[in-house]
Amino acid sequence: MYCLVLHPAPVHRAPDPALDPALLVNTMTTIGLAGPSLPGPDPHCYAAGAHFLELLTFLGCSPAVTLEPSADAPSDQAFCYLRIKWGEHGMEFLKLRDDPMARCPACRKTPANWQASALGTDSLTRAVTLSCPHCAAQIAPLDLDWRREAGLCSLRVEVVNIHPHEAVPVERLLARLAEVTGSAWDYFYCRTND
Ligand SMILES: [Zn+2]
Repeated sequence: MYCLVLHPAPVHRAPDPALDPALLVNTMTTIGLAGPSLPGPDPHCYAAGAHFLELLTFLGCSPAVTLEPSADAPSDQAFCYLRIKWGEHGMEFLKLRDDPMARCPACRKTPANWQASALGTDSLTRAVTLSCPHCAAQIAPLDLDWRREAGLCSLRVEVVNIHPHEAVPVERLLARLAEVTGSAWDYFYCRTND
């Protein structure tokens, strides 16, 4: 499944550890991003709320956005809904493609050996710096630019069944999430198997 992932910006700007999960859910519901919780094995799934289509900007001329399961095939899950992951697995590297390449945030070039497999995604959260072979900038791995096609996060809100670059969150939505968690939020796209 393709997802749009909304998440607090990585570790050094991590959310307040005392963040009350109910507060985040309440905020999502109050602003109309999330609707009622969805039946199913995962208790953290919510239907799209009343203002879902105002809080995300859909790109392209006529997006066909399905917000409810089809009545004919209710088991067909190809509709947009929200899924909150509370970060119980710690920091995870999520990606859209098998082996994404990182770009240097300073010069925007893509060093040949900065692919996720070569960098070792386990090491991305460690306090080592990478030296850009193009501009010599010292880059903290968490600041690597994955072109919004990969990212590191623990707590996150997944907007399920959004295709890569199909929709972007509006500023107001990211600002509201930042307000409730006390840390800036960002987004990227990924593909998951669950
Ligand atoms: Zn560079």
